[in-house]
Amino acid sequence: MIGNKILKTNKEWSIMTGRKYKFSWDLLGNLDEGRPNMKNTIRLEVYRLMQYTFRDIIETDFGTEKADEIFYRAGFNAGKEFYQHIIGVGLDFNGLVKKLQTSLRDLGIGIFRVEKADIEHDSFIFTLSEDIDCSGLPVLDYSVCTYDEGFIAGIMESYTGKKFSAKEIDCWCTGDRTCRFTVDALTSL
Ligand SMILES: [Zn+2]
Repeated sequence: MIGNKILKTNKEWSIMTGRKYKFSWDLLGNLDEGRPNMKNTIRLEVYRLMQYTFRDIIETDFGTEKADEIFYRAGFNAGKEFYQHIIGVGLDFNGLVKKLQTSLRDLGIGIFRVEKADIEHDSFIFTLSEDIDCSGLPVLDYSVCTYDEGFIAGIMESYTGKKFSAKEIDCWCTGDRTCRFTVDALTSL
C-alpha cells in the first residue's frame, strides 16, 4: 500500500530528525489512488480559505512580521522543492523561463513572464498574472504575495546556487493587474 509506505517513510524521518512535520514531496500524496473520483482539483477559494485562515492565526499568535517571515520561508521551501521535482536541473535561462511558464500555467498557479533579465548582475523582474494567491482580492494598501516572494527566491537560489531575495513591488492588492517581483542575488560567487 502506497499510503502505508508514505506513513512509514515519514515515521522514519520523524525518528531521524526528531520532527513530526518535516516536509517531504511524498506528502502531496498519490492522488490517483486517494481521490479516484475527486482527482487533483479543488476550487481555488478552498486554497485561499486555508492560506488566509493560517495567516490570521499565525499573525494573532506571533505578530505580523513573524507571520510574513513564516510565509516567505514556507514559500522558499516550496520553491526549492518545486525546482527539484518539477523544474529539474541542467536548463539554460531560457529553458528555465519556458519550464516555469508551462508548469506554473499547467498547475494553475499563474501566468509567468520575465520583464527584466540581467543575468550578468543576477537581477531580474518577474511578473505573475492571475496569481493563485491574490488575483481578484479586494484592493488593500499592501501586497500579499509573501509566499510567492519566497517561492521565487527558492527557485532562483536552487537554479543559480546563489542566495536570492525576491520582493513584490506590485500586486493585485495594491491595485495592479499583475504581481511584479524584483529578484536579486544577495551575494555573488
Ligand atoms: Zn500579489
